[in-house]
Amino acid sequence: MGNSQFIPLGRLGRGKDTEENTEVNWQAAEGMPRVYLETYGCQMNVADSDMLTGVLSRAGYQKTDRADDADVILINTCAVREKAEERVFARARELGVHKKRRSGVILGIAGCMAEHLKAGLLDRAPYVDLIAGPDSYRHFPDLIARAHASRSASTDDGSADDGSAPAGPIIDVQLDRSETYEGLSGAEGGDGVSGFVTIQRGCDKFCTFCVVPFTRGREKGTPPREILRQVRAHADAGYREVVLLGQTVNSYRYEDVGFAQLLRAVARVDNISRIRFTSPYPVDFTSEVIATIADLDKVCNYVHLPVQSGSDRVLERMRRGYTAAEFRAIVAELRARIPDIAISTDILTGFCGETLDDHRETLNLMRELRFDSAFMFLYSERDLTYAGKKLADDVPLVDKKRRLQEIIALQESISAEVFAARVGKRERILIHGRSKRGKDQLVGRTDGFKSVIVPADCAEVGELLDVRIERATMATLFGTPAK
Ligand code: SF4
Repeated sequence: MGNSQFIPLGRLGRGKDTEENTEVNWQAAEGMPRVYLETYGCQMNVADSDMLTGVLSRAGYQKTDRADDADVILINTCAVREKAEERVFARARELGVHKKRRSGVILGIAGCMAEHLKAGLLDRAPYVDLIAGPDSYRHFPDLIARAHASRSASTDDGSADDGSAPAGPIIDVQLDRSETYEGLSGAEGGDGVSGFVTIQRGCDKFCTFCVVPFTRGREKGTPPREILRQVRAHADAGYREVVLLGQTVNSYRYEDVGFAQLLRAVARVDNISRIRFTSPYPVDFTSEVIATIADLDKVCNYVHLPVQSGSDRVLERMRRGYTAAEFRAIVAELRARIPDIAISTDILTGFCGETLDDHRETLNLMRELRFDSAFMFLYSERDLTYAGKKLADDVPLVDKKRRLQEIIALQESISAEVFAARVGKRERILIHGRSKRGKDQLVGRTDGFKSVIVPADCAEVGELLDVRIERATMATLFGTPAK
C-alpha cells in the first residue's frame, strides 16, 4: 500500500448543514430511517462505505446527502496520519451539533481511526454513540439499533434515566481474521461506472512508519469465487470498470491462486471493459504479473507503485523490503513489457534519520524515473508503529516542509511535461461523470488514469469514447471527440 490510499477521496452525501431545530421521531422514521455517511481516507475506505451503504439499504435505511436531515450520521475514517484524525475530530464536532438540534440522532465513527483509538476516542468526542472498526460493517444495522437503544435508556447528560450506571456508547472494535465480507458487494453504493472490489484486507508487511497492520489487522485474501461473484454483480449493475483493492494487492494469494491467475479470471467476466488494481507492493511485482498485465487488454496500462524514498538507508529504516536499485529494476521491467504504461508513486519525506543526502537521492530518483504523478507527504509519527516506538522523529518540521516543497515542485514540473506530451494523441476514455468545473463538461479517464475533460454533449456517463487531446495542465487533459 502507499500513502496515496490515505488522501481524502470521496464523501458520500456530504450536504449543507442548516439551523433547523427539530426532533427525530424514530417511530415515524421507522422503516425508512435516513443515514448520512462521510468517507475519509483511501480507496479501501470508499469501497467499505459503498458496501456499508448496501448493508444499510438492505436493512431499510435510506441514504441522504444532508446531515441535518439524517437519523444516523456516520464517518468512515482513516488513521494513517495524525492530520487525518484531527480532521475527523473537527468534523465530528461539527456534525455533533445535529445531536443537539434533534434528539435521537446517532453519531458513529467507523473504520481505521475507530480501531486505532477505540474507547479512547471518547476522551475527545464524548458525544459519539457508536465506535466500530473495519471488521464490523456487516453488523451496522444491529450496532445502530443498540446505540439507539442505549441512548434511549440514557438522559441527555449520559446518565441512565432510571438512575443506574449510564448505558454508554456502543463499541465494536474486535478484528476478525475470517471477515472478508463474503456475500456483500459495493455495487449498490458506488457510482455505477467504476466499482471497487476488495480482494485482500489487512497487511503483513509492517513497514515501520505505518499503522495499517494495527488498524486493519493481518493480511487475508478473499476467495476467488467470491471476488468473481462481486465483479459479476458490478457488471450486472452496469459498471464498466472494476478496481481490485488490497493494501498490497499484487501479493494476493488464496490457496493456489495468485494475483496473475486472478487477473486472468476477472478479465473473462463479460461486460467489464476495464480492470484496475491498487496498490501493489513493489517487490511482489513478479515477472508473471507484469507479463499478465501486458497480455490482457482489459487490464489498464497504469500502476501505482509507492517508492516512499530514493535512499537505501531510509528504505531500510522503513523496512520496505527493497533497495532503490531493485525499485528501478521493477520500473524498467514494467516499461519494457508495457511501453505506454503510466506509473504514479508515493513519497514520504522527513522520515526518521533522513539526511539532506537521502533527500537528494529521492530527488535524483524522481528525475530519473519521471513518474506521471505522485502523492507526496511529510512524515508524522504514529503510535503503535515501530518507528513511533523505537526511532527518533528527528528531522525538524521546517526541514520536512522545505524538502516536501522541493519534492512537490519537481514532481509538478515532471507531470506538466508528461501531460503536455499527450497533446495531439488519441485516447480512449471512460466517462465517469460530470466535471466539477461546470455542468457543460464531463470527466473521463484514460487507460493510464489521467483525467480528461470533454464537452458534455459528446457522450453519456459510463460510455467509452475516443478523444483527441487538445491541451493539458500538469494534472488534467482536455479533449474533443476523435474523428
Ligand atoms: S505496512 Fe502494509 S499497508 Fe502499511 S505501507 Fe507497508 S505495505 Fe502498505
